Amino acid sequence: MPLSADLKEKILKSVDDGFDEQTAYLKTLVSFASQRGEEVPMQEFIYTDFAERGLTMDRFAMDEAALTAHEGGAPFSATHSKAPIVVGTHHPKEAKGRSLILQHHLDVVPIGPREMWEHDPYAAEIVDGWMYGRGAGDMKAGASANVYALEALKRIGLQPAATVHLQSVVEEESTGNGAMQCFLRGYTAEAAMIPEPSNMTLARGALGVLWFEVLVRGFPTHVSVMGTGNNAIDSAYRLMGALREVEEKWNAEKDQHPYCAHMEHPINLNIGKIEGGDWGSSVPAWCKFQVRVSIYPGQKAQDKLKEIVDHALAFAKQDPFLAQNLPTFTQNGFNSEGFILEPGSEAEETLGRAHEATFGTPLESFTTPAYIDARVYALYNKIPVLNYGPEGRLSHGFDECVNLESLRRTTQSMALFIAEWCGTEDI
Ligand code: ZN
Repeated sequence: MPLSADLKEKILKSVDDGFDEQTAYLKTLVSFASQRGEEVPMQEFIYTDFAERGLTMDRFAMDEAALTAHEGGAPFSATHSKAPIVVGTHHPKEAKGRSLILQHHLDVVPIGPREMWEHDPYAAEIVDGWMYGRGAGDMKAGASANVYALEALKRIGLQPAATVHLQSVVEEESTGNGAMQCFLRGYTAEAAMIPEPSNMTLARGALGVLWFEVLVRGFPTHVSVMGTGNNAIDSAYRLMGALREVEEKWNAEKDQHPYCAHMEHPINLNIGKIEGGDWGSSVPAWCKFQVRVSIYPGQKAQDKLKEIVDHALAFAKQDPFLAQNLPTFTQNGFNSEGFILEPGSEAEETLGRAHEATFGTPLESFTTPAYIDARVYALYNKIPVLNYGPEGRLSHGFDECVNLESLRRTTQSMALFIAEWCGTEDI
C-alpha cells in the first residue's frame, strides 16, 4: 500500500536526523583495509554490529565443493577469500508485508601505488561533500545505506512488517561466490536490493564476467643468441592480440542483445595482471597473464569461455613453437552469466515511487558492463533484484570517493522503499 504523506515525511526526516551517525559509520567501514584475504576483521565488525542492532545472526564459510558444483559458482584459486559470510535477520512480530534481502559486499580491490593517491585510501577524508577511500563508493556507502535505512524506521518507532535479511558478503570483486553462498544456504525473499554505486539509477541488467589465467611457455637462451630461443613474453603479446579479435567480434554482435545494443563497447576484455621472465639478459621461459572478459546476458559462461579459449588455441597452433608448447588456460575467478531485470515488477514500481518521492524525478535504468552480485538473485533465486545506489566516482581507481549528499538521499529512497515493500509495525 502506498505510504501516507505523513509517514513519508517522517521517514525522510528520520534519515536526515541519523545522517551524521551514518557518515561516522561509513568512516569506520572505510577504515578497514578489507582487500581480498584481509576481510576477516571487517566481517567480524559487521557480525558484532548487526547483533547489537538486534538482528538474529548467522555466519558461515564459503563451501568450495558446493560452489564449484553449481553453474553459478566460480572456481577457487589460491587467493580465494576464507572470510565468513555474515547475515543478520530481522523477524517481524507479525509478517504482514513482503520479505526482502538487503545485500552489500565489503571486499575492496587493491589500492595500487599508494603515492598516486592524494587522499589516504583508508582515512575516509571528506572534502567538498565527497568521502574518499578505497571502497567508499564500491560499496561501503551502500552498506551504510542498508543499515541506516532500517535505523531510520527504528528512530521513529517502526520496523519492517516482514522478514529482512541483511547480507554482508565478500568475493564480489573476484568470483561472486559470497552472494552465491547465501543462495546455497537457502536465503531468499520476495525481492532483493543491492546499493552498489549507480548514481541513483536502477540496473536494468548486467553483463556476465569470466576470469582466466593464461600460462605461456618459452625457450630460454642467452640474449646474444636469442634467435635460437623463444620469448614467452613476446608470445604472450601475440596471444593477447588473438584474444582481442574475440573481443572485437563479440562487440560487433551487440545489436543481437536488446539491452546492450545502445552501449558503446559492451564487451570489455582486460589484461589485468602480467608476470614473466627471470632475468634481463635471458630470453624469458614463461609468462603468465590474467584476463577478464564480459559476455552478454543469456549466454552461458562455459560456452563463451570455450569459444575464446578455442580461438586462442587455434592461433597458438599456427606458431611453430607454441604448437609444440600449447599455452594453458585456467579459470581463476568469475564464472558468471549476465541477467536482465524484466520491467514491470512490483518491486521496481515500488522503488519508482520511493525514488520519485525523494528526488522528484522518475527512476531511470541502465545496463552495466560490470559484474554485480544482483545476477545471483535474478538467475538462481529468480526474484526481482534492485541494484540501486549512490553516486560514486573512480571505483577501482585512485582517490575513489562517494558523494555524501547522494548517499543521504539514496538512503531516504531506500527507507521509503522498505517501508512500502515490507510494510511497517510498531517496535
Ligand atoms: Zn561493488
